[in-house]
Amino acid sequence: MDLLDTLTAKGLRGEVPTREEALAVLATTDDELLDVVAAAGKVRRRWFGRRVKLNYLVNLKSGLCPEDCNYCSQRLGSKAEILKYTWLKSDQAAEAARAGVAGGAKRVCLVASGRGPTDRDIDRVTDTMAAIKDADPEVEICVCLGLLSDNQAERLKAAGADAYNHNLNTSESTYGDITTTHTYADRVDTVQKAHGAGLSACSGLIAGMGETDEDLVDVVFALRELGSDSVPVNFLIPFEGTPLAKEWNLTPQRCLRILAMVRFVNPDTEVRIAGGREVHLRSMQPLGLHIANSIFLGDYLTSEGQAGQADLDMIKDAGFEVEGAGEATLPRHRADIAAAASACGTAASSCGTAASACGSGGGCGPCGGHAHEEAAVSEEPAVSADASDSADSFGSADSAASAGELRSDLVKVRLRGAGTELAPNA
Ligand code: SF4
Repeated sequence: MDLLDTLTAKGLRGEVPTREEALAVLATTDDELLDVVAAAGKVRRRWFGRRVKLNYLVNLKSGLCPEDCNYCSQRLGSKAEILKYTWLKSDQAAEAARAGVAGGAKRVCLVASGRGPTDRDIDRVTDTMAAIKDADPEVEICVCLGLLSDNQAERLKAAGADAYNHNLNTSESTYGDITTTHTYADRVDTVQKAHGAGLSACSGLIAGMGETDEDLVDVVFALRELGSDSVPVNFLIPFEGTPLAKEWNLTPQRCLRILAMVRFVNPDTEVRIAGGREVHLRSMQPLGLHIANSIFLGDYLTSEGQAGQADLDMIKDAGFEVEGAGEATLPRHRADIAAAASACGTAASSCGTAASACGSGGGCGPCGGHAHEEAAVSEEPAVSADASDSADSFGSADSAASAGELRSDLVKVRLRGAGTELAPNA
């Protein structure tokens, strides 16, 4: 059985491939690309059907961050001409969120620049969440405020947050190359705090920062181990005025391979195409929908996305449908695991108990892959799985042909929506 048959069969069973198999996906050639997308598409349809979850970003506080993340337009010393403003008022943030929900978003992501929130900041976000949920009680809220201190995740959970986003971004071994003001371990700690408080963990990566294939595979397996329910895959937006401004080393083909690898390692987890979708996938965006089951609607934190209507048209034209507020995103066994983790309140990585000892009835699946894999076998498919295609031979390939080529024409700073008087594009 060749690589793609193996990966498809494992994905349909909810099993994780080996590290070598994940690396082999990244080494496929352009001739094999459509076969890779088709294989990942079968896995995606098995667990998520043809649904696309829409998420909407509200940047509560923009720029002026004291941290030095090299990829970030809001970093210390950034010369990127982005919007800079301090905390939006609750009604301003709720108004921005409403635009996203009206456009079809079922999750609103409340983000603030900075190392981490103060307790006063948690109060602010609590008020904002109340204003959003007053207008639309069904909307999911994910909060992204940086590194969390003790009890802050619990406060956010009690205030109605559904999820917390904190990305690992890159592998542990290269983390020090992109940030010096905090560590990979700090990031893992915050994801664990969020998960331990019963928040759904949203944690992902950034590709295109000069990392190796091994780095990408390392971080994706680390995210799997952490029990992330949602994995945003960002493609670096090389903002002028940041240290990575010249890191134009992604192609649409490379992005699709990365998405496919992430999908095979996370067959039943939400995989989201995040920042850089328009910049790097460009006209290949619809193929990304065959692999990922989630995207952002409209603009990003500090850069413009394509118009929200263009996102909706793309989804429809590609034969997919927007996931409704009443539809569960995760397959039932994954949702049960998340609920169990919430009920027992145990941090994913620190829970060493067997499922039966947890007392939650569902098992602490995020502690490792096995509980989830066993559950996956008995899960009814979201749609019937189709037969595996065969694939041709695999050789190494390099499609990162645009390295060093400046495409700053593709990066547009966001000057509308949250923090401005202008309407958002959702
Ligand atoms: S990623 Fe977050 S912590 Fe890092 S510089 Fe940007 S806003 Fe600050």
